[in-house]
Amino acid sequence: MGVSDRDVSALAGLDFDEIAALVDELGEPPYRARQLFSWIQEKSARDSDALTNLPKALRDRLADVLPLRAATAGTRHDSKDGTFKLLARFHDGETAECVYIPEGDRRTVCISTQVGCGVGCIFCASGEQGVVRNLDAGEIVDQVHLVRTASGGERPGNVVVMGMGEPLHNVNPLVKALRLLQDPRGLDLSPRRITVSTSGPRAGFRELLSSGVKVNLAVSLHAAEDRLRQELVPRGDTGTVQELQGMAAAWFRATRRDVTFEYVLLAGINDRDEDALALARLAGRHLNVNLIPMNPVPYAPQLRAPSRERIQSFVDLLERAGVVVHVRRQRGDDVAAACGQLRLSRAGPAC
Ligand code: SAH
Ligand code: SF4
Repeated sequence: MGVSDRDVSALAGLDFDEIAALVDELGEPPYRARQLFSWIQEKSARDSDALTNLPKALRDRLADVLPLRAATAGTRHDSKDGTFKLLARFHDGETAECVYIPEGDRRTVCISTQVGCGVGCIFCASGEQGVVRNLDAGEIVDQVHLVRTASGGERPGNVVVMGMGEPLHNVNPLVKALRLLQDPRGLDLSPRRITVSTSGPRAGFRELLSSGVKVNLAVSLHAAEDRLRQELVPRGDTGTVQELQGMAAAWFRATRRDVTFEYVLLAGINDRDEDALALARLAGRHLNVNLIPMNPVPYAPQLRAPSRERIQSFVDLLERAGVVVHVRRQRGDDVAAACGQLRLSRAGPAC
């Protein structure tokens, strides 16, 4: 099978060895591989005319076997806090949203891994209509490059895989995309600058662990006991609370990186004192807690964040139990770019 027959829609999804094989297939000298890979992954070039040090004949042949352009930038919504949400449009017309979040001198890009999501968490707009399809590796990394270009070309400091979709329902393309982002011949992002957030599908987690790829892991817990978690996170073969704790511990053992439990705070549902105490028993050394006050979604108006006082009491209880806890600040919520507000654009405008 030639590289050009592989299951990717664009050059952006090829790793260095695949680019080298393609260059060889085309009868070009090996040094062209380095040039081509650098254009795509390091310089974010997405227009074959921009590849100025490659001969025109080669650019034309590349365009014939595999198009360079995987995703194009669609509508952009700018928040007053500097965050913007960008629609990435893929070759078949499907779309996913990615977000740029500046904070001080740190620039974070939030990317999606699927169109839609099959887990269906009751508070999340991304899962409202199920999963449409997985994104391939090129479509995942392309979002980073699209946002980089749209934000003036500076390299992103951090990448968070916290957009639309369950990353561990799409593990192989995810792992390939993470390796592309970490490749020293490309953007060269350090593993500690990349965070993957997951609701914890069992099979996907095993695959991620055995891939050996290093990133920060955030486990979306949302409830400290199984019955409530099953109601909040209804599908997707995600682990029990105990299994999720086991996943966090296994990730820490494999990577020596602290793991975060994410916990969307829902007024009257999982925000009582006893919820905080149960959560504190699960967290502890090397297992921090990130509280995310629920961002409103139009289809579930009954769900909302607790009051500021309730959130503070929840934080105090965790801290008194010795847990490292952060409350995530809302970013981009005025343009529906905050956590859980990304949704299928075909369902109507996202904001
Ligand atoms: N599917 C993965 C990654 C995408 S969701 C996961 O669930 O982890 C990223 C984070 O946003 C998760 O922690 C998720 O629980 C949170 N989130 C989803 N909907 C939200 C909402 N309406 N308000 C606040 N956070 C939300
Ligand atoms: Fe899917 Fe994550 Fe949204 Fe749940 S929170 S529906 S797993 S994207």
